[in-house]
Amino acid sequence: MSDSRTVEVGLAGRPYEVRVGPGLLIRLGAECGPLLRKDTVPIVTDANVAAIYRETADKALAAAGKTARWLVLPAGEKTKDWAHLAQTIDFLLAEGVERGDCIVALGGGVIGDLTGFAASVLKRGCGFVQVPTTLLAQVDSSVGGKTAINVPMGKNLVGAFHQPSLVLADTDVLGTLPPRELRAGYAEVVKYGLIDDAEFFAWCETNGPALLNGDEPSRIEAVTRSVAAKARVVAEDERETTGTRALLNLGHTFGHALEAETGYSDALLHGEAVAIGMVLAARYSVRRGLMEQAEADRIAAHFKACDMKAEVSKLGMECDGRRLADHMLHDKKMDAGTLPFLLMRGIGQTYLAKDVEIDDVAAFLGEELAL
Ligand code: ADP
Ligand code: ZN
Repeated sequence: MSDSRTVEVGLAGRPYEVRVGPGLLIRLGAECGPLLRKDTVPIVTDANVAAIYRETADKALAAAGKTARWLVLPAGEKTKDWAHLAQTIDFLLAEGVERGDCIVALGGGVIGDLTGFAASVLKRGCGFVQVPTTLLAQVDSSVGGKTAINVPMGKNLVGAFHQPSLVLADTDVLGTLPPRELRAGYAEVVKYGLIDDAEFFAWCETNGPALLNGDEPSRIEAVTRSVAAKARVVAEDERETTGTRALLNLGHTFGHALEAETGYSDALLHGEAVAIGMVLAARYSVRRGLMEQAEADRIAAHFKACDMKAEVSKLGMECDGRRLADHMLHDKKMDAGTLPFLLMRGIGQTYLAKDVEIDDVAAFLGEELAL
């Protein structure tokens, strides 16, 4: 039987479960149960994930008397575009998917975002089961119902809120994830500690290196706690209207500036940018007299202990602070000309500041780049 843990995402009217643990994929059919109404189950995935897990998923569904029908898309962020959205929708229509059906998204954030968006518009919305296969997707993008594609004007600019029917976060599949992807996802785990849970950050300091080196119990613990933290926030502020959900963007305003400067390329993964972005948010908070230097040092030291980059000055960027700050002015979170900024009064004490001047941030970034 299943030894997974369950986190409820308590949305009014349509709560759903996130199950976390080993062996979930090999029980895919049984875990989904009555969510799968028909004999065939459409599964969207990418080529890398299919190469490793297609057979496992086929068998898991066969054990429940189901046949998988696959759409295998190219791996990579470029797949989150109009063309692949259209291809996905055409595939689902050809498969005869109806509103009461559930489709399966098996993959990282790219597959989850794209498939979730397709599900949100298919016949005005069908169900979907997320089987996130990256650490980033397990702890962040698969929970909370944000779906999107990228367009020429920017990333994630077209999308919908569409909650999954079930999320199966199988910690076994993290075993095949490239170490760099694993570390990038880990940044979002640490984020939950930094936002409002100092004890969890201390847990990360103790267990993070083992987790990254394959320790299964700490993986399960980290994913469960992260999902629970995100579930709490999402239940409070499903559509990012009250500001609670904004806390999840800690490190992301700085991070997005770094991603924009590197052209959203493989030179800097999202999670890598977020890790450095959180160090920057902490140091900027120190500069404003909000937080002790020693606390900011602890954050940078933890990432370094995990073989992650923590210093913007080590990225080899050939730009100045002003240029980085200018990227922030195009941030999606920009609201009527002001950019809300997440600052810290200490580890686990993040808050939304509304009085941040972009010139001051530019000067700070100039100093950080010159370190
Ligand atoms: P993210 O989840 O970080 O947003 P992607 O969906 O692009 O990003 O996944 C990152 C990369 O890892 C992709 O190349 C994807 O094919 C690959 N991948 C996803 N899950 C696994 C896995 N469990 N094992 C090996 N590679 C994986
Ligand atoms: Zn993120």
